Amino acid sequence: MIQSILEKAYFTNSLTKNEIIELLLNKNDKSLYTYADKICKKYKGNFIHLRGLIEFTNVCKNDCLYCGIRCSNKKVQRYRLTNSQIIDCIKTGLKNGYKTVVLQGGEDSFFDCEKIIKIIKQIKQYDIALTLSIGERTYDEYKLFKEAGADRYLIRIETTDKNLYYKMHPNMSYDNRKNCIYNLKSLGYETGTGCIVGLAGQTIESLAQDILFFKEVNADMIGIGPFIPHPETPLANESNDNFDLALRVMAVTRLLLPDINIPATTAMETLRPDGRIIALKSGANVIMDNITLAEFKNKYEIYPDKKSSNRTKETLQKIGLFPSSTKGFRSDNH
Ligand code: SF4
Repeated sequence: MIQSILEKAYFTNSLTKNEIIELLLNKNDKSLYTYADKICKKYKGNFIHLRGLIEFTNVCKNDCLYCGIRCSNKKVQRYRLTNSQIIDCIKTGLKNGYKTVVLQGGEDSFFDCEKIIKIIKQIKQYDIALTLSIGERTYDEYKLFKEAGADRYLIRIETTDKNLYYKMHPNMSYDNRKNCIYNLKSLGYETGTGCIVGLAGQTIESLAQDILFFKEVNADMIGIGPFIPHPETPLANESNDNFDLALRVMAVTRLLLPDINIPATTAMETLRPDGRIIALKSGANVIMDNITLAEFKNKYEIYPDKKSSNRTKETLQKIGLFPSSTKGFRSDNH
């Protein structure tokens, strides 16, 4: 049964919700990972896209229940990088051979449209692709950021279960979040989304629905993060035993969207010492290295004990993978 579902996924890249549920529930069957790895290598080769991650502000107006930098957490030392500090990070990224940087921050209204455009233009003076991950903005702002040179945008839906979404995201609108994703797609961004796996109250059905949503929007990048409880949040006492399920969600996503970019997330490395390697053998093809200035790195703590990867290139070579020489767009396979 599982074998025939996997064959169908491999050859057609489509599955019904029930078939996805079967794959997610089948904890003891490892062939899902083999198929996800096989299809990943078929479409993306043995190449890994390395992205430099710059966490430029940990100020956020939102209060997501799972997030260590939510506005209610008064223990966070807040920071904002200046434009010249951001450019210093870019130079580090270029020196390390990165062809893409991801500019990530909380929803910080200090960085209004004008300030973001200025940063984009400064970054795009360098030969580097730019991904923004700065949350919900208006259609017009997204348009202006695109015109200023931004290439990609990440905004995870987190969960397609509306009730759960509202429980986890006080004062936020599920419909607005969904609209943001569609707006970004329509503006020609390479658009990334994704979900958290293991939230209290989340069902396997809703995870299957998340995967179908990724397929429906034809996302270009998908980030799957296992939930990790942060001690300074209302979810501090929840379980963090979510690595395997997150890996299965990621592997099924790869089968349905074979040519997209999927990171081996830092959250996976945080839960397992070899978490990233396992993910890279189960359908992931992207690594994000944190290139934020050292003094700020530990202050962007969405979840505790966040790992950053060192010696990435050497580690990749040991498992027969190589850093890509391209900017890592969806169509790049070398
Ligand atoms: S998850 Fe993002 S939007 Fe929510 S509180 Fe954290 S930084 Fe802000």
